Amino acid sequence: MPFKEYTFHDIVAAIEKTNKNYRIDFIQKAYDFAAAAHEGQFRKSGEKYINHPTAVAIILIELGMDSESVVAALLHDVVEDTEVTIDEVREKFGNDVAVLVDAVTKLGKIPYITREEAQAENIRKMLIAMADDIRVIIVKLADRLHNMRTISALPEQKRRDISRETLEVYAPIAHRLGIRAIKEELEDLAIRYLDPVAYADIEQSLNSQKEYRENLLRSIIDRIEKRLKPEVPDIHLEGRVKSIHGIYRKMYMQGKAFEEIYDIYAVRIITDTVANCYNILGFIHDMFRPIPGRFKDYISTPKPNMYQSLHTTVIGREGIPFEVQIRTAEMHRTAEFGIAAHWKYKEGIHKNDIKLEERLSWVRQLLDNQKESDDVEDIVTSIKSDLSQDDVFAVTPKGDVISLPMGSCVIDFAYAIHSAVGNKMVGAKVDGRIVPLDYQIKTGEIIEILTSAQPHGPNREWLKIVKTGEARNKIRSWFKKECRPENIEQGKAEVEREFKRNSIILPNDAMNELLESIAKRQHCETVDDFYAAIGYGGIILSRLMPRIKEEFRQAKQTPEELDINDLISKNTIGENSDEGLVVDGTDNCLIKLSKCCNPLPGDPIIGYITRGHGVSVHKRDCSNVPRDMTTCDEPERWIRVKWTGKPNKTFQSTLKINAIDRPQLLADITVALANMHLALHTVNARELKDGNCEIMITISIESLDHLKNIITRLSKIESVYSIERTGL
Ligand code: MN
Repeated sequence: MPFKEYTFHDIVAAIEKTNKNYRIDFIQKAYDFAAAAHEGQFRKSGEKYINHPTAVAIILIELGMDSESVVAALLHDVVEDTEVTIDEVREKFGNDVAVLVDAVTKLGKIPYITREEAQAENIRKMLIAMADDIRVIIVKLADRLHNMRTISALPEQKRRDISRETLEVYAPIAHRLGIRAIKEELEDLAIRYLDPVAYADIEQSLNSQKEYRENLLRSIIDRIEKRLKPEVPDIHLEGRVKSIHGIYRKMYMQGKAFEEIYDIYAVRIITDTVANCYNILGFIHDMFRPIPGRFKDYISTPKPNMYQSLHTTVIGREGIPFEVQIRTAEMHRTAEFGIAAHWKYKEGIHKNDIKLEERLSWVRQLLDNQKESDDVEDIVTSIKSDLSQDDVFAVTPKGDVISLPMGSCVIDFAYAIHSAVGNKMVGAKVDGRIVPLDYQIKTGEIIEILTSAQPHGPNREWLKIVKTGEARNKIRSWFKKECRPENIEQGKAEVEREFKRNSIILPNDAMNELLESIAKRQHCETVDDFYAAIGYGGIILSRLMPRIKEEFRQAKQTPEELDINDLISKNTIGENSDEGLVVDGTDNCLIKLSKCCNPLPGDPIIGYITRGHGVSVHKRDCSNVPRDMTTCDEPERWIRVKWTGKPNKTFQSTLKINAIDRPQLLADITVALANMHLALHTVNARELKDGNCEIMITISIESLDHLKNIITRLSKIESVYSIERTGL
């Protein structure tokens, strides 16, 4: 695949565009050094290897990063992939560059076993690197961006894995750092590989009306310019198209039709002063009718990533709504380049730059939070949700604005104010009305936390309601500090219960040994510490059970006589994450979903060990599954399997639709399926004698809930009177 080839001349050209004083000699020295080191190496795409670091360096120049970052980018793969050592880099390019290169190199190494562990460790390393020298992460983002641009050279599965990680980790970090230029390109590229059909759909919708919309936008811009110029001379207007990923989120996550998205096209007005921003807003609302509830003032309340702008949606003369964004030139630079825009050339970023400190406070917050938690999966989930992009803003009665991730409840709000407020919380009022504790906050609400005079502490149930890692960790740390004896008691009871349920029974000595080794692995000094950690929620026992069972199995020989339940529970668990299934008794065995009943995530299921074809999974009530395990042939072949709740592939399901026959019926059904974005594998329609018809369709779906949604949508089609799931 032909990708753009970059040379040193492209670096020089990029530098010339910036009008900045780059140290060209230093950069050339790094380029020559890297080119020599990578000589004879090629990338999967067939380009010379040096093309990659060169492209990364150019991205950094375009962002306005300093010479050292550019040099580090040129050298970022030499230590990893060539004979060059870090000491050599230090000797030739100085300590600062060596530290950057070393940090970027180390970010790529993942010595962990599971994907979650690897991801958690990777994120943790990135956060630490960021807190240390933010340039490390900006180089890493540029590295990922060029890798994504050239990802089509990789095999399908790799592309998807890298795209998913890009969407879950890298794009949110770019967003948090406010680097829109990188964030949007990363997201668009990731969606292109994760959901190519939707990507093509959106691209086509954008293209089909392109000329019409562009003319419309042009005429609106002309009109605004004519009206504003005499009043506010210093303005610059531009048209903007929403990113494909942005449209994707609205269409497939919020269920909007392409036509319902108001801000696909927007007009951006850039001016000199804040006062003029508000002036311009007045003119715009005078010229066009504003849509109520769509005005957002991110100038007085910046987004957490420091984004500032006024947004309003108005209706043009043609009756078509469009968004207008108004901001100063400085705000615009911040909106595009985020933290990189604050890079003071030559001086770098001052350690005591208050704005920067504010910008990076979330990094520190995330690092603090995850120190409290010992559970890997938990760290990843909590970081991902804290990084997630949608924020809501709510206000305290005194007028302080608190920003929280979408879906946060009033308990999150209380803990965001202060842990003391959370720990004394007894209730909350939203806009003056008492609400339940799981009430989800919406932007603009005034929230008053009701507290008791006596300190009484949080409730363990709150851990299930809160959304932010901050609240969860503050609640845990309260339990950790205040209730050690209760925690130990609670943890011990939970271990006993869980062990009993899994038939983990050992003589006292052996049991103590087992517990001690588990505790040690969880970084607990004593078994009591381990119990306590379970008690306050720092360790989630159910997630450890697979490994514990494995250890138990090794510690104990399987007894001679077993009933089916013992057999099930004493075996280990292996995970076949592709299917989103866990099978007792086998490690990474081949799992397939049986065709006779097409089980879906959420269905009660059971596995059957076939001869040489792995485990086939049936619905518990499939007619091929014996009703009574104690009397059937070969009961030992039937094993317990369960859904892990995180399938990352799709399942086939067959639906039988009964309807009164009418013209267009089949067309309506297929259109509905296409609108829901479903792959249709087979369709079979037949007329019944009584004027009814029966349509069998096989589709790819993600889960039982997904299927339920599909059935609901299909049952709304005219003349359809029943839909049921069936085998093939
Ligand atoms: Mn690289």
